[in-house]
This record gives sequence, structure tokens and C-alpha cells, in this order.
Amino acid sequence: MSNESIPSLLLNSGVQIPQLGFGVFQVPPKQTRDVVSTALDVGYRHIDTAQMYRNERGVGEALADSGLDRDEFFVTSKLNNAFHAHDDALAAFDRTLEELQLEHVDLFLIHWPLPAVDKYVEAWGALEEIYRSGHARAIGVSNFEPHHLRRLMDETTVVPAVNQVEVHPWLGNEDVRAVDAEHGIVTEAWSPLGRGRVLEDPTIARIAANLGKTPAQVVLRWHIERGDVIFPKSVTPARIKENVQLFDFELSDADMADISALDRGERVGSHPDTMNNTGR
Ligand code: NAD
Repeated sequence: MSNESIPSLLLNSGVQIPQLGFGVFQVPPKQTRDVVSTALDVGYRHIDTAQMYRNERGVGEALADSGLDRDEFFVTSKLNNAFHAHDDALAAFDRTLEELQLEHVDLFLIHWPLPAVDKYVEAWGALEEIYRSGHARAIGVSNFEPHHLRRLMDETTVVPAVNQVEVHPWLGNEDVRAVDAEHGIVTEAWSPLGRGRVLEDPTIARIAANLGKTPAQVVLRWHIERGDVIFPKSVTPARIKENVQLFDFELSDADMADISALDRGERVGSHPDTMNNTGR
């Protein structure tokens, strides 16, 4: 597997993001170094972590072990919910760089809008400062509904480069994707496999059998052809490898339509309007 076959998308900051990456949510801190090393070995060059995952250190260790030059990989982290106040956000970002052992991240996100806390505009001010300092090559948001995005764009200067939201065949999230596209914001689809639950779907099984591919490869290829960025998670080496082998086949228009028709508005995670857990 050569990473040259993974396409990149252009972010509004002028930075290229590999369309396929590796997610480390729920990868135990002690296992992260090995798991991320496996992912780098099989060709992933984009890692999606977060302060909340408590495994940035292992990600940084694996990147250091890899011997890759800094411009050969792309790393995203996200601001923990407890730190939306301006000074807290800056201090938390510094800890992220320390944990990752890096001078800069490629992308830094507000993890959740937390409407009950109502400080995401203040947090964005801190991210704008980080962006201008060069310590993040792009900044963005996660779990922002259209009304959160509109308020942010009305009250601040920098348009988010990405919006990372839940998307998979059972949750197309088309309203959010449309608003992102309208503003040149790249949609990143989190839980692209619906945490594995969508893989049992008979439509996906049928398409996979016809193509001689696995259900996971079919679902991930559907995201790629829709144009979203994805970073499936696994700790199993064979699956980590399987999930990067997406670039030697295509889905027909009929297959794409059949998978899109599975949308039933079903989430595997929290709704951004009601998620207000600051971990405090
Ligand atoms: P996912 O949709 O990637 O599913 C992962 C699960 O699917 C695995 O634990 C495993 O059970 C199964 N799986 C993976 N590969 C498989 C294969 N080839 N065959 C069969 N089963 C397979 O779920 P996720 O980890 O929730 O999401 C991916 C990434 O998205 C996370 O690691 C994280 O980086 C990001 N994320 C972000 C947010 C956010 O709020 N911004 C929330 C959740 C996840």
C-alpha cells in the first residue's frame, strides 16, 4: 500500500488534508503507540486524536518512532470540553503540542459546541490566535450544527476549515454537509462505520459480495466518493490494513444511491444540541 494512492483535499487555509486517516477514539493510551505504528506502516499518513481521548502522547511517540519527516504526516487534535474559556484553551493547546512532541499540529478543532456552556465563540477566538501563530496550519470545528456555524461565522473572522460530524449510511447528515459545502468547509465524517453497526446491513453485504470487497471497504468507499474526509478506527492489524485498501475499486451510481437510501437519521453518538458534558 502506497500512501500516494490516498487522495488529498484542499482546506481553506491552503493546506492539503489526506482524505483517509486513522482515528484513535477509545484506543487505550498504553496501546496507542503500537496501534498508530501499525497504521503508519500500512500507509496511513493522517491521525485524528483529541485531548479527550487521553492518547496524544502515544500518537506522538509513534510519529517520532516512524522516522517520517514532519511534512509527510497530518495530525489533528481537538480542544477538550472543559477548556472553552480563552486562556484555558491556549494552555490546553500548549499541552497538546507537548504530548505530541510537535511544534505544530496540522488541524485543531473545537470538539463540541456545548450550547449550555455557550463559550464556543470565545474558544474560537483562542483558536484564531493559535492559527495566526502558525502552531496550527488549519483550525476547524466538530459537531457544529448549521446554527452554531452561522453564529460563529457572523461573530468571528476565520471560517472553519472543517466541520467534523457524525456521518455513516444510517445518518447522512445532509443538512450539515450542505451548509459546510456552501461555505467551503470540508466535512469530516466521524464514526464512518457507525462503530461497526452498519456493517451487518443486508444492502451493504450484497454490494460487498458482488464486488468481492468487505462491508467495511464498501462503506468507506461510499464516504470517499461523497467527498468527505474519514478516519476509521480499529485496533486489529488486519482491519487497519483492510480499511486503507479503498483505492482499487469504485461503486456504481446505483450502489451509491442504494447505500445513501439507508439513511434513517440514526445516531451512534450524542446530538450536538444536547451534548453539554464538560467532564467537570
Ligand atoms: P468507526 O465508525 O470508525 O468504527 C470503529 C469500529 O468498527 C471498531 O471499533 C470495530 O468494532 C469496527 N471495525 C473497524 N474496522 C472494521 C472492519 N474492517 N471490519 C469490521 N469491523 C470493523 O467508529 P469511531 O471510532 O467512533 O470513529 C472513528 C473516528 O472518528 C474516531 O476514532 C475519532 O477519531 C473520530 N470521532 C470523532 C468524534 C467527535 O466528536 N469529533 C466522535 C467519535 C469519533
